[in-house]
Amino acid sequence: MGWDDGKKKKARSLDAVERDVWNHCRRIVRERAYAKDGDLYCYTCGAGPLVGSNAHTGHMVNAAVLGWGMRYDLRILRVQCYRCNIHLGGNGAVYLWRWLAENGIDAAQKLFEDIAADDRDREYLRYYLDELAVR
Ligand SMILES: [Zn+2]
Repeated sequence: MGWDDGKKKKARSLDAVERDVWNHCRRIVRERAYAKDGDLYCYTCGAGPLVGSNAHTGHMVNAAVLGWGMRYDLRILRVQCYRCNIHLGGNGAVYLWRWLAENGIDAAQKLFEDIAADDRDREYLRYYLDELAVR
């Protein structure tokens, strides 16, 4: 722990922080998928095992409409194939259907309330990164 560690941390750009947040999210989502299914399979179409650039991490809800507090919320992130995530725009209806079967309507209610109430700005990612880094 150097005398200027705190300064360095504060000086990091939000772009760099967001990149690290995303990398941690991808790592955690993959770890969960391996633990559950033994490999990476598309959450929405079942394709797999997915390797390399065909293994995406999908959001269920278009990230552009999510606030900064929910954009990288682990509840909504799952492994998807390139086709579902890119060509099918996330395949959201199937995603939601599977998510509901997996988590139940009460969890969905809570999730969408959290999405609607989220007013956190991008600075939140600095705090969230610290939280993700220890998981
Ligand atoms: Zn797929």
